Amino acid sequence: MLLLLLWDMTNEQNEKIFSKFEGDSFKFRCHKDISCFNECCAKLKLVLTPYDVLRLKNRLGLSSEEFIDKYTETTFEKPRRFPIVLLKMADNEKQSCPFVSPEGCTIYADRPGACRIYPLGRATKAITGNDNTVEEEFFVVKEKHCRGFEEEKTRSKAEWMQGEGLEEYNEVNDKWLSIITSNKGMGDESAILKKTQMYFMACYNLEKFKAFIFKSSFFGHFDVSDDEKEQIAQSEKALLLFALNWLRFSLFGEQTIRIKC
Ligand code: SF4
Ligand code: SF4
Repeated sequence: MLLLLLWDMTNEQNEKIFSKFEGDSFKFRCHKDISCFNECCAKLKLVLTPYDVLRLKNRLGLSSEEFIDKYTETTFEKPRRFPIVLLKMADNEKQSCPFVSPEGCTIYADRPGACRIYPLGRATKAITGNDNTVEEEFFVVKEKHCRGFEEEKTRSKAEWMQGEGLEEYNEVNDKWLSIITSNKGMGDESAILKKTQMYFMACYNLEKFKAFIFKSSFFGHFDVSDDEKEQIAQSEKALLLFALNWLRFSLFGEQTIRIKC
């Protein structure tokens, strides 16, 4: 199981209480006039998925590399097999998110999936034998300072997921999650090193991945239709979905891409 938003549990004030989501609805409302406004946008260990980075770098008019250099830090913590990209908090007393302002989130329409789903959390696990489907489990995340649960507004989980635009994020994030939570073998140490580099490029440097497939003999070796080539040339989301398919082939040897005869 892996939660998309990881928390700094070491800070007493920032202590978060997870409980299993029961039933269908929850009472919660967040708005600009609430006394705790913006308090949740600091001191976070916020995992950025490849799709989060795609949305954010385009929002900010940066290349993937520029965004990764400026706004993230990468950690490698065992037993995880792949590096994890975290949003770097500002170097100020509050350790605030770099995108928070007195008026709220400055990149709201492109905020990461973890911010969208909050105050819920979603844990997922690939279903064995069916790598395109994941099991999901929901949590409620109650922080001491969050007053949103005291507001008189009830909504269903489905309404929340739809209202926060999570379907689009989950479509890509679930494919990525099934890669990073896979326990399929990746070969010896030197193969693992090369595969980890490939993983990072395909997930977090789409411009470089695009050059890798379009400016090499890639399409001479793999059977990709002209329609699909056109789609991945035009849409970065399609490119990322293709990259995630490619990773299943190149990391684990799955038949997600056909070799030309
Ligand atoms: S702490 Fe809760 S209610 Fe307050 S701004 Fe954050 S999400 Fe909204
Ligand atoms: S990205 Fe926006 S919503 Fe998420 S922590 Fe930063 S300011 Fe808050």
